Amino acid sequence: MSTEGLPLRERVRLGWLGARGATGALLTYPSPAQRTLLRDLRRALAAGELEVHYQPILEMRSGRAQGAEALVRWNHPQRGFLWPPDFLPQAELSDDLMGDVDMHVLDAALRRRSEWAGRGIAVRVAVNMSGACLDPSFPGQVAERLWAHDVQPGDLALELTERVVMANPDVATEVLNALHEVGVQLCLDDFGTGHSSLARLVSLPFDQIKIDKSFLLGDEKSVLRIVKAITDLCHALGRVVVVEGVETRASWDRLAALGCDLAQGYCVSPPRHPDEIEGLLAELSVPGTDEGRRPAPDSAASRGIVKKPAV
Ligand code: C2E
Ligand code: MG
Ligand code: MG
Repeated sequence: MSTEGLPLRERVRLGWLGARGATGALLTYPSPAQRTLLRDLRRALAAGELEVHYQPILEMRSGRAQGAEALVRWNHPQRGFLWPPDFLPQAELSDDLMGDVDMHVLDAALRRRSEWAGRGIAVRVAVNMSGACLDPSFPGQVAERLWAHDVQPGDLALELTERVVMANPDVATEVLNALHEVGVQLCLDDFGTGHSSLARLVSLPFDQIKIDKSFLLGDEKSVLRIVKAITDLCHALGRVVVVEGVETRASWDRLAALGCDLAQGYCVSPPRHPDEIEGLLAELSVPGTDEGRRPAPDSAASRGIVKKPAV
């Protein structure tokens, strides 16, 4: 039987080896274990087993919390606490399921942003998006959800990895341009890990470029050289530079000296349950939404203090 012309998920269901999924990864027929996981994940979504944790994103110069990245976790009834690498690669086998996970996290993050704003915590929420979102209907869905949760577009950042963007560059361009029109911030995640055409990336409306944490792992001299080169290039192109995976205070200081704009990492806080992170965000953020307001004189933010990791 020819699978030509069938939707991707049908081709995968029929065992059409060699199909490429939304992320560009080569798909094969799901194994029994993978199918069990997919079925469980569908059930978990409905049962509320997926949790969204948040990691603060700080302005390097002021130490003030500018955002919080939403990261999904699965509180599995039998297997315990699962991290994204334990289940997202399998979820990506199904565009529908991966899209549902992303929308679930988007809804949770917008709801949280609304609640936090009501308590004076003004941080932008950043949400990761998979290739399943690269659909022309997606920007409209985002606009609807912003409206439903009463969140301004600028208070949401959507993160797409280089891998996702380059797997489908034409659709990505269309969707990203439409999201830019909606007014959400766009962040290119894991920059430097894919085989991107720089010309293509430059033509896309990303506001922020997030340097992949793997760049921080080399010897100090090469780390500084590479990060400096990327930072200078991004600044010349008018982009905000974010560094992830900053684990020590010394590393923080070096990256700040290079001119990186925003940072996140264990040296501030690992991703945590919203109830556990709210206090830190309240301390490090500036009450209200006025850009010009300064942190309270005795707050950690005003002293430029970077919190020690709690774990
Ligand atoms: P990411 O978006 O690049 O997120 C950063 C990852 O680095 C997170 O891993 C975070 O826990 C980890 N991290 C944060 N600070 C440090 C640090 O100082 N050192 C080190 N070594 N790691 C740090 P996590 O939570 O396991 O997520 C892995 C990836 O899964 C994310 O990478 C993102 O690509 C994907 N992901 C997570 N949640 C979602 C989601 O809701 N939707 C989609 N589509 N993808 C998601
Ligand atoms: Mg991310
Ligand atoms: Mg990343």
